[in-house]
Amino acid sequence: MDRQLLSKILAQMRKNLKEKKDIGDMKVGALLALGHQLEAIFYYLGHELGSTLKIKPVKDLTQIPNEIERIIREFNLGAVEITESTEEIVQLKLKDHSSIRDLIKKGIKTSGSFCSFEAGLLAGVVEKLSDRNCFAQELGCSLQTGENYCEFMIVFQKTD
Ligand SMILES: [Zn+2]
Repeated sequence: MDRQLLSKILAQMRKNLKEKKDIGDMKVGALLALGHQLEAIFYYLGHELGSTLKIKPVKDLTQIPNEIERIIREFNLGAVEITESTEEIVQLKLKDHSSIRDLIKKGIKTSGSFCSFEAGLLAGVVEKLSDRNCFAQELGCSLQTGENYCEFMIVFQKTD
């Protein structure tokens, strides 16, 4: 799933709706950006789960990395290492999470992003923490890279 593209198309759709313009062809573009259906469904599922966790918004966005670490520990979602954190993105490495736990080190390889459930979950969690719309994307999956972690990027969506 191409989150960045989807996000752009959705922004354009919002704009068009507001300006009383048509959005017909954009639905097709959005569908293409969704890519494989299963991946989109897993993302949705993870996002729903993340959104239902009892999480309070932070007072200050700089607390988000610490809070992500705490929540991932609290709900046994894996082992996390935050690698980058700015006002626009949070990047992290996640090990031992549910999507790969039983598959890693068994010679199984995937092409492209695999852990869309965790991506959705992270987006849902950070949305609750930040009280902003977010999307998350798996940058590199351990089943693809051979590393013992998957890397994710969570992006705070600009309000327009
Ligand atoms: Zn992965």
